[in-house]
Amino acid sequence: MSSVMWFRRDLRLRDNPALLEACAEGAVLPLFVLDPHLWGPAGPSRRGYLAASLRSLDAALRDLGAPGLQVVRGDPVRRVPLAARAAGAERVHVAADFGPYGRERDAAVEQALADQGVGLVRTGSPYAVPPGTVTSGSGDHYRVFTPFHRVWEQQGRPAPQDAPAHADWLALDAGTVDLPSPRLPAGLELPEAGEEATLERWRSFLEDRVDDYDEERNVPGTDGTSRMSVHLKYGEVHPRQLLADLAGRRSAGAATYRKELAWREFYADVLWHQPRTAREYYKTQYANLAYDEPGELFTAWQEGRTGFPVVDAGMRQLRSVGWMHNRVRMITASFLVKDLHVEWQHGARHFLHWLADGDLASNNHGWQWVAGSGTDPSPFFRVFNPTGQGRKFDPDGSYVRRWVPELADPDRVPDPHEPSSEVRAAVGYPEPVVDHADERREALARWERAR
Ligand SMILES: Cc1cc2nc3c(=O)[nH]c(=O)nc-3n(C[C@H](O)[C@H](O)[C@H](O)COP(=O)(O)OP(=O)(O)OC[C@H]3O[C@@H](n4cnc5c(N)ncnc54)[C@H](O)[C@@H]3O)c2cc1C
Repeated sequence: MSSVMWFRRDLRLRDNPALLEACAEGAVLPLFVLDPHLWGPAGPSRRGYLAASLRSLDAALRDLGAPGLQVVRGDPVRRVPLAARAAGAERVHVAADFGPYGRERDAAVEQALADQGVGLVRTGSPYAVPPGTVTSGSGDHYRVFTPFHRVWEQQGRPAPQDAPAHADWLALDAGTVDLPSPRLPAGLELPEAGEEATLERWRSFLEDRVDDYDEERNVPGTDGTSRMSVHLKYGEVHPRQLLADLAGRRSAGAATYRKELAWREFYADVLWHQPRTAREYYKTQYANLAYDEPGELFTAWQEGRTGFPVVDAGMRQLRSVGWMHNRVRMITASFLVKDLHVEWQHGARHFLHWLADGDLASNNHGWQWVAGSGTDPSPFFRVFNPTGQGRKFDPDGSYVRRWVPELADPDRVPDPHEPSSEVRAAVGYPEPVVDHADERREALARWERAR
């Protein structure tokens, strides 16, 4: 029997249960569909990274003796059944998608395949514990992280599996397109893509940094985090593989790392239960808060010209490498919502445009967490002071100096977190666009009014 392996967010050969299922059945057509619905709104970082990851998967498949990844372009509801027919496939194998669009798309593809007598088989997912699995004693889902995490930790997981040792591969005679190769905007440099580069980066984190992760993860000036987010996003590695490697580690760093992986799964779970929260307020009462329309200050924020060094460093890091440190994501997001009074959806869209790891669940719920309208029970009135946060988490100023070149020279700028007006004028760095104390009061006043 022949089948189709439809790759989506699982661009790897190792520990890929759907691929193993397909290979066990006979000849396999390795398929990727460039879906305009996803490619169109993806920003330069996601397009560039996806293209590089596809090239890497294509090369890895060729090393296994396959004719390469078969790439087609168009609506999967049409393209997948066409590919299945061309391959004479009886089944199409996928890892389940739990996002709002992916679920609808897969249901429509499943129907279209069924119309021609082909089955869609979902094996595995991008998560260690698939969304919808973790429930309370009463069968309800969790709305806050801590109890979710407790139950998530207790879930069993199969051990990671190897790449298929052998398979017969199929190719399409017609209808394929070249692998995409979008041009990156000047100044944007993305990390190396692909399964091998991912595992190399992971092993180096595991050997050198994971045990200090609980301490280092909040210091944006160090390389203290794993940088796995983009690799998890595209499934170049599965969280099950990371968790298996962490299993023997007793350090506080390893425990904290497991917990961070659980945050990713928690947000996917919340979004699965409440797909509307991708765009709407999780806590609906926050929709009543008064916000300003995005204008010049929003543009200054996007471009890293707010005059608040750690905010500007983060916003410039985002556009330079398609990634931002988690602590700084929180600081920049808080600044937009609580100092500039712009609704979180505008910021979330900007992040999704530039982040290579841009993920609807983690991003939009990360934004809602900061905006106070998300799953976190912490109240709106905890407003980050951007200067204080910079001093606390970037005490030596190395992060700010790295990403804001105007502030790089310690001789000219002795205090990179709060340069004086004279220094700002001398190095060409803007004055703060707002007074934080005033805007904090304004944010709280609006919150009081909404209550
Ligand atoms: C406003 C905002 C937007 C965000 N947008 C995204 C996004 O689009 N995509 C994304 O993957 N993460 C997002 N995050 C979460 C977090 O910032 C990134 O996962 C992290 O910075 C990625 O770097 P890392 O892989 O080095 O993380 P590490 O610190 O090494 O963490 C390991 C992994 O745990 C997961 N993780 C860690 N922290 C979080 C978190 N707070 N929420 C969910 N998962 C987490 C990620 O998969 C990460 O790769 C966002 C956070 C905020 C506050």
